[in-house]
Amino acid sequence: MQRHICGYHRDTEDDWVAELDCGHNQHVRHNPPWTNRRWVTTHAGREAHIGSALNCVKCDEGAPRDWLPAPHAHDDTVWRKGAGAIRWGRVIAVWLLIALAESVHGTLRQLFLAPVVGDMPARQMAVLSGSAIIFLVTWLCGRWMALPGRRAQLLAGACWVLLTIAFEVGVGLALGYSAERMLSDYDLRQGGLMAFGLLFMFGSPWLAARLRDARG
Ligand SMILES: [Zn+2]
Repeated sequence: MQRHICGYHRDTEDDWVAELDCGHNQHVRHNPPWTNRRWVTTHAGREAHIGSALNCVKCDEGAPRDWLPAPHAHDDTVWRKGAGAIRWGRVIAVWLLIALAESVHGTLRQLFLAPVVGDMPARQMAVLSGSAIIFLVTWLCGRWMALPGRRAQLLAGACWVLLTIAFEVGVGLALGYSAERMLSDYDLRQGGLMAFGLLFMFGSPWLAARLRDARG
């Protein structure tokens, strides 16, 4: 079963052990030419692999959780800085990137698409291309965000949705849009598909991580 790395410690032989989000431990050795994991030898490499997936055979076997060394008992061997934590600064930075890309996308839509097909059809089509932009940015930044596990991925998605709604309302108020105009984007009866866009945004960090895992 694919599980995510949420921390590391060293065993008594000084080999690195990854702590997975299922509560199992797994050796991550750099032992060339048999096992090549140069990343495990550096702090930056280990940090970059927080949140990446390993196949956990112990889960498949239904084994009980592994014992973890107490974090302060072996300060020199245990490395837990940021383990299992969501780096909200990075989550928000990626959202800003998405918001920037979507703003450019929205401007192009208003300039070139809306005059041809009409305002509401243009906004509906933009939900599709807008979702593609969200997924592309999420995919490209996924490793950098290093969200440790499904719960973190869904929390990040929820955070993005809240930021997006706050942003849309803020822009709408600044431009003096009526409440009806803003809500029509979300109203399915009026053809507003924005709710689907937000749902997709909520799931995209999780979806991108699943696809990355599937590719190994
Ligand atoms: Zn496991």
